[in-house]
Amino acid sequence: MPFIMCPQSLTDHIDLIDVQGWDFQHTTASLIIRGKETAIIETGHHRCGEQILAALQLRTIPLDTVRFICVTHRHGDHCGGATPLASALIEAQVVGHKYAIATLYEPSRLNRGAQELFGKFAQPIHPLPDSVATWEVDNGDQFELGDDVSVEIIGTPGHTSDHLAYLEDSSRTLYMGDAMGLLGPKNFTVTPTSFPPSFKFDAYKASIEKLQGYDPAVLVFSHFGAVTGSDIPVIFHRALATLDSWKETIEQAWHTEPTKVAVMDAIRDRFLQELEVFPPEARSLFIEVMAKGLAKSLIPNSDELIG
Ligand SMILES: [Zn+2]
Repeated sequence: MPFIMCPQSLTDHIDLIDVQGWDFQHTTASLIIRGKETAIIETGHHRCGEQILAALQLRTIPLDTVRFICVTHRHGDHCGGATPLASALIEAQVVGHKYAIATLYEPSRLNRGAQELFGKFAQPIHPLPDSVATWEVDNGDQFELGDDVSVEIIGTPGHTSDHLAYLEDSSRTLYMGDAMGLLGPKNFTVTPTSFPPSFKFDAYKASIEKLQGYDPAVLVFSHFGAVTGSDIPVIFHRALATLDSWKETIEQAWHTEPTKVAVMDAIRDRFLQELEVFPPEARSLFIEVMAKGLAKSLIPNSDELIG
């Protein structure tokens, strides 16, 4: 299965950049899309903004041609880099769902929640100054970059309610953010991004099926990398099959012993080895959090036990 590492040209006008989320290689990917003007799709953590600026400079892309800084959703490892980028890219507007934009202006509540869930692995969003131009978008919006390069915005709720994917039309390159899971770079596993409190199982599954319908030629995961051609149907199938396996594992564990520990143990025992992204010391914690998110979404009245 060809897996595209980085920095790498995906097409003649799209580059995939490793922005090194959590200061770790092959964890978080952004795209630079070029027409006459330039768009950045996804910004990583606050500190990843520097990696994106360096990538623009390396390619001698004039900073004043960057018109769009796009984010897929409100989580800090996706929109956090928008704040430093917006101060350096003064012709650009920050593009995202209205909830993501609202979070960028007022991140304190989300930062507190992330700190509670992820402890030392949480990386806070710095507030976007009021002076920065923003554009609230939703499913069906699009923008043009010139030279027949255009980007369509696809509503993909489930991971969060404000999740958007971005499709570059001429190359059919689809940037999925967290809409379809985490791609393992060694064995091409796909792990559901079922983080609480926002994850909704049915919407998440429907969004994966919706993205499948766009018949993309290049498929890009935020965490991490790209797949192409005939591997794409395999990855879609794997994402849906793994999601169902997680559901089955959680429901069986809950039926046997309805406790948080039982659910987390069952998911960790069966799926931890499949989680190949994020710093290794973070993976056990992250998979427990994702088990909790999926269980909360599936099991009615589990809040008290799952927490
Ligand atoms: Zn996320």
